Amino acid sequence: MNATTGRTQAELLERLATRLQASWERDPLFIDPNVTPGLTPKQMTALRRASADAVEPGLPHFIAIVPTLPIPARSSDGWTRFTADLAYTMHEKTGADRTLVVFTEAESAARTLAYLVDDNGPSIPTGSDQLQRSASGDFLPVELAVPHHLGVLLATAKGNEPPPPPDFNPPDVGEGDDDYIEAMGLDNGDPDALVFAATAVAAAGLGAWLLRRRTKYEWRTTLTTAPELTRAHNLIRRCERSLSELPEPVTDDEAQWSLFDRGRRVQNAIAAIIETHPGWASDPDFSHRHAIHSLTRTDAWVRRSLGAASARLAAASVRLTAASAKRRADEAGGEPQFCFFFPSHDRDIEPFAWTQGRTTLTVRLCADCRRDLNAGHEPECLMVPKNTGVRKARPIPYFQRHDAYALSGFGSFAALEDAVAEYGAPGSGQR
Ligand SMILES: [Zn+2]
Repeated sequence: MNATTGRTQAELLERLATRLQASWERDPLFIDPNVTPGLTPKQMTALRRASADAVEPGLPHFIAIVPTLPIPARSSDGWTRFTADLAYTMHEKTGADRTLVVFTEAESAARTLAYLVDDNGPSIPTGSDQLQRSASGDFLPVELAVPHHLGVLLATAKGNEPPPPPDFNPPDVGEGDDDYIEAMGLDNGDPDALVFAATAVAAAGLGAWLLRRRTKYEWRTTLTTAPELTRAHNLIRRCERSLSELPEPVTDDEAQWSLFDRGRRVQNAIAAIIETHPGWASDPDFSHRHAIHSLTRTDAWVRRSLGAASARLAAASVRLTAASAKRRADEAGGEPQFCFFFPSHDRDIEPFAWTQGRTTLTVRLCADCRRDLNAGHEPECLMVPKNTGVRKARPIPYFQRHDAYALSGFGSFAALEDAVAEYGAPGSGQR
């Protein structure tokens, strides 16, 4: 939510990196101890076998099975960057021509990242995208996802055709010998393990939720270009205003200086985004405009608040009437609120208890997104085509693109200006 949270997340990831590297020196398969109780003996065996089968001279491999990580580490950009960096570190350590590294969150193998690393850096081979599905289109449980990703990496490293997705069809379970739950020993009567297993098998939760969105929008071939924003909100002018000098507080009040610092972070974030995406105002891709829109709203509020404070001071020292000082303070209004799903939504933001699986998360939502969820379906704004220039644009959630806006989009609780300060403007030279 703020820079402190960001630092805590960074520390958490740093500790994870240290633990992984230490463990990988002994065994290429790392299973986090927090995850182990949720895995059945057969799942463990399947994972060990996958690691043993992947042993190939000259092609070292490393596997990390980790628990679901807290946000914003969980947000696509932070996690992708962390895993890609660590994969490259491991490659440098091995000194091999190529190194295979697979990261997966045990509870949701949809969040698997598989890297083939050479001296140029890590790459994700075709057929190894994050949301891996089986031949029947079902989401793979961890004990199938890991060997499959390893197989794709090995095939790519050797220049072979990648293997087809495995056969896995959860609706088939319960039919005699084909019962997947029984076969994997998942039905062990432990409610927690059952929920855990059900998550893996039935792909409950966010992963499946996103998959459904993806299927639903498969017909889309053009970029989403609405809402337009630039003209509607006079964004070019507002952007110039936001970049103009921010008046320093004329007091040593700490709250005022902290507000001023936030204003400076907002300015830095706007500058970074404009530098990375000079065509932000007219680009058919809309999402950088959303970032600018959100940031200029915060900037306007910071300026109003700083102005109101100096008006109060002026009223105290000069003969500005108490009434006019109060009016200027009122005009400052409240801090702008952003919708959890889409930060540019600003209609009637209110807290909303959003239930996903067993977890209820209180998030701030706009009236439209609340209406969508209350009507029993997801907000329609989430899915956007991946990019232009390809024949069939693959729809993905907007926050998984390298867009300026994605940093504080769905799944992140970080303020956009803080996220840009920590990660840089997306699209600025990262993979
Ligand atoms: Zn909304």
